[in-house]
Amino acid sequence: MAIEDSSEQLENLASGIRRCIACRLHESRRLAVPGEGPANAEIVLLGEGPGGKEDATGRPFVGPAGRYLDKLLQSQGISRNRLFITNCVKCRPPENRTPRRDELKTCTSTWLERQLELISPRTVVLLGQVAARQMLGDTATVSELHGTVQERDGRRYFVTYHPAAALRFDWIAATLREDFEVLGKLLAQPTDSP
Ligand code: SF4
Repeated sequence: MAIEDSSEQLENLASGIRRCIACRLHESRRLAVPGEGPANAEIVLLGEGPGGKEDATGRPFVGPAGRYLDKLLQSQGISRNRLFITNCVKCRPPENRTPRRDELKTCTSTWLERQLELISPRTVVLLGQVAARQMLGDTATVSELHGTVQERDGRRYFVTYHPAAALRFDWIAATLREDFEVLGKLLAQPTDSP
């Protein structure tokens, strides 16, 4: 598909997300946060859900966790131009609580899967436990899988911690830095490498 067509379809999905009332999270949101990045992104970064700053701006990862993520990306020379950044749920859960199972199911089946199909990224980076469980199944744990590549249904996932957790725990910050070194090497490989 031509990039212009994909970009238009991705923007159509974003418009739908901004109007979506498919789950209860629409009731308390200010702005839905569809995600941002090119339709031909090689990498999708997937978090849990928008926080306060994201809810106020409609943009993903623009708060403290987003700034930390930017530093991690820069440390590996990974340009944001290569990335599409989004979340499992597109509307902020009240008080930043964890999204509920039915909210995750509704939002991923209605929007996320369609975004991923359209972008068809080389790698999806799962940031944190919620994203890992949503894409890899209920038994997936970040503490066991971080820093590794997992294949599911023809898609390649790289698992790591959520940057927000790194702001609370030094040991997670150290682990996240190590994981991003692995990710940097992985993304430096030629496209057809395993
Ligand atoms: S979280 Fe997702 S499914 Fe729920 S209202 Fe927002 S966009 Fe719709």
